[in-house]
This record gives sequence, C-alpha cells and structure tokens, in this order.
Amino acid sequence: MDVIDLRWRKTFLVEVKEKLAQLGLMNCAVCESEHLTVHRFPFLALMGDLPPNIGNLDDTEVIVEYLVRVECGICGYVMLFSAERFRTGDDETLVRGMTEQEEDDLERRYPL
Ligand SMILES: [Zn+2]
Repeated sequence: MDVIDLRWRKTFLVEVKEKLAQLGLMNCAVCESEHLTVHRFPFLALMGDLPPNIGNLDDTEVIVEYLVRVECGICGYVMLFSAERFRTGDDETLVRGMTEQEEDDLERRYPL
C-alpha cells in the first residue's frame, strides 16, 4: 500500500499554535493541564459516498475535511478544529510526499 505522507506545513502549525493561544486555549478543558500538543498530522474526516478508496483523497465523491488535532498529554482529551479557520490567504497548509528537509528548502526559496 502506498503511503500518503501528508502532514501540516510547519509554518501553518506555528500559525495554529499562535491562533489557539490568542483564543485563550492554554489549558485542557477537562483536567486543566498545560500539556497540549498540536499534532503534525491532519485528522481526516471523510464524508460522502463511503466506503471510499481511502488512498484517493482527490475522489470528487468524497469530501475530505482536514482537522487540526490537539491532544492533552495528561488525560488524553482530544480537541478538533477546522483547519479552514486557521487558513490565511491561499497559503498551502499541507505538504504531501515531502521530507522535512525538502520542506525547509522550499521555505527558503519562497519565503512567506
Ligand atoms: Zn487533560
């Protein structure tokens, strides 16, 4: 099986963390711990005619929603946020099939 290798762009993750802090999300809603982690991989919610070919995210019959997953490291409470809310302009929020080194090189060539 092919690996999709899809993750949030590093610059997008920084924006997400800043925005969440601005919104006042500093502690877990359940245990109030400060150990919140924003995952580097998107949480995919699939909607539409299922079962889809999971490997084909470009299938027009399937709506794929990309969610930002924030997890509490103490109690395991998981929060999901719509990535669309954190998007600024037309910047890509995801990188696909790229090593971290390739992504860094890309940022250097096309600084934001
Ligand atoms: Zn917690």
